[in-house]
Formats: sequence, structure tokens, C-alpha cells
Amino acid sequence: MHSAHPTESASASLLAGFDYQPRTRIIFGRDTLEQVGTLARDLGGRHVLLVTDKGIAAAGHPSRAVGFLEAAGLHVTIYDDVRENPTTGDVDRCVQVAKEAGVDFIVGLGGGSSMDTAKGANFLLTNGGVMKDYWGVGKATKPMLPLIAIPTTAGTGSECQSFALISDEQTHAKMACGDAKAAAKVAILDPLLTVSQPPRVTACTGIDALAHAVESAVTKKRTPISAVFSREAFRLCYQGLERVLRDPQDLEARGMMQLGAAFAGTAIENSMLGAAHSAANPLTAHFGVVHGQAVGLMLPAIVAFNAHDPLAHERYLELSASVELGPIEEFIAELEVLLDVAKMREGLSKYGIDAGQFPTLAKEAAQQWTATFNPRAITAEDFERLYAEVLE
Ligand SMILES: [Zn+2]
Repeated sequence: MHSAHPTESASASLLAGFDYQPRTRIIFGRDTLEQVGTLARDLGGRHVLLVTDKGIAAAGHPSRAVGFLEAAGLHVTIYDDVRENPTTGDVDRCVQVAKEAGVDFIVGLGGGSSMDTAKGANFLLTNGGVMKDYWGVGKATKPMLPLIAIPTTAGTGSECQSFALISDEQTHAKMACGDAKAAAKVAILDPLLTVSQPPRVTACTGIDALAHAVESAVTKKRTPISAVFSREAFRLCYQGLERVLRDPQDLEARGMMQLGAAFAGTAIENSMLGAAHSAANPLTAHFGVVHGQAVGLMLPAIVAFNAHDPLAHERYLELSASVELGPIEEFIAELEVLLDVAKMREGLSKYGIDAGQFPTLAKEAAQQWTATFNPRAITAEDFERLYAEVLE
């Protein structure tokens, strides 16, 4: 028997609607960096601003990129003063260089910081004002310069996102400035570029990518599309992380991590993040804990907290099953094993943090944008308890 009106079963109501159009063409494979010149030329570029940092420059990647760009007939101006966790001051300095050179195209080459600085500068170059004007979503009214993103780490997934994360130099607030126009036209994923990462960077960025997959899988904004990317990102990172840590030259595993990070970035673009990132950001802002370390440190406790929500619990089990793991306890234990393997299973006390600082940190954590997408409502008191769990 069926009724006159379609009925919405409990499981059908879980299928959130979505509007998905990939904004970024993804080119993956060994030696794909060689295509950067022709790609930039085909997208109309004549004078390219190459945004990178000095560490990446030492590895030789930017000079190779310049070679390919110049061989395609393009002029290149380099900005290589990118710093970790870029601030409004960093973006201003990059914009100054871009303005003086009169560029019409941007290439971001490096970790998340290089790509975020490139995106941040693009906002100000094309739409004027200050970074704060773009805090939020869709605040840019004028067209932006075409951008090619080339990650040299496997972590943030910034290459697949329309957001620039820029810290306010005064308040230290991490501003997520997003606009569809800010997304890269092309992401070049060349696993050879990630081999030069120092081991500690491989560990921190890899754990961050894994956390992106786990967090994006359960958010309130999750859709059937983001779920596909979260799950595949988790599978790739889970299977690739131990391999790249054991053998940094394992190019197949490097490729798995790079794809995992990009897919997780795509998942975030469609479903946002959760409370592990909310808890991590104040640790980075006040105690300089590296982002991936801060997120990894909080992740098992947050998963255990969220698993009390029946739907989040079910979604964690989907991830767990995708890599042939079992119940939630096993899933959480396995996350802890990965942190151990990455030599990142540490307590907050190692960073000079004590219980006296929890109220301030927890208050800030609860105010983070990402907290609003967490599957289970989370308060400052909850964050205080969670910090206490990971003190030692
Ligand atoms: Zn992250």
C-alpha cells in the first residue's frame, strides 16, 4: 500500500539538498608542474605574480615554475615572503608588490599559507579595501584575477577552496574570507613537489588532512556530495599517512596524501568543519601550536564527544567501515595510533598550557565559526572539559 503523498522516511530526510559545481579544474600526476606555463597563458595571463615562501624557494620549485612560465612567454614577478599563518600585514605586503608590478595573473605555490596569501591579495587587488571587508562569504563584487594553486604540502586543501584564512594582525582573529571568485581556476597536484617536505611538516599537514576528512564527514552542513569526498579523502589519508612517514620517497603514497588533502578540501568547501578546528585555533593563536598538531591533539576527544550524537556516530562508523575498521572505540583508537606514528600524541602541558588558561581558551573556541557546524551542540564548558582531557 502506498499513500497519495510521498512520505519522507527518516533516512530520506538525511539527504540534504545541495548546489554543487566544481570551480577548480584539478590536474593530478607526476611532472604536471610543467603545464603551469601553458595553462596560465591559455587563461589569458601575461604578467604573473608567483606567491611562495623562502623554504619552498630553497627546494627549487619556484625557479622551475618560473622557467615554465617564461618558456610560455609570460613575465613573472616573485613574492617569496609568505609566512606561516599569514596576517593582514602579510597580505598588504604581497598586494604592494603585485600593484607595483602590474600583474594580471596569480600563481600560489607552496603550503596553505602561500595559497591563502595569494587568495587574500587577490581580494584586495581587485576589489580594494581591507581583508576584514571580505570576512564571511561572497563579499567581493568585482571579478578577481585568475589563480593557479600548486600545493607543495598535502594538508590544507586550500587549492580546492574559495576561502583565504588570514589572521588579523591586531586581534589575532583567524578570518575566513570566502568567495566563489577567489577559488583557483586550476589546481596542479604534482606529487613530486611534496617529497621535499621536512618530516615534521609531512606529519602535521597529513594529520590536518585526515582531520579535515573526519570533521567534514559529520558536520551539520554535510551533503551527499561532501560525504563522497570526505569518505574517499579519509580512505586515502588513512592508507597513505603511515607509508609517507615511513618512506618519504614513496611517490604513490605521496600522491594518495595529496589527493586525500585535495578531496578533503573539496569536502570542506561543501560542508565546512567542526569542533576540533574550533578547539585548535585558540591554541595556535595564543601558544603557537602548529595547526595540524593542534587539530590532531583535539581530534580523538572531539570524535568521542560527537559520537554521543546518534547521526554523527553512524557517520563515523561509515568512515570506519571504509577502511575495514569496526566500532567507534576502534575508530578512535586508530586515530590515536596514527597520532603516535606521526609522533604527535602530545598533551597541552607540553606547550606550557595549564588548567588556569582553559576558561579563556574555551570561550574563544566556542565563538569559532566552525563550532556552529559541529554535529553536536558544544559550549565553552564542554571545551573546558575537552581541554582537560588532553592536558597530559
Ligand atoms: Zn585544518
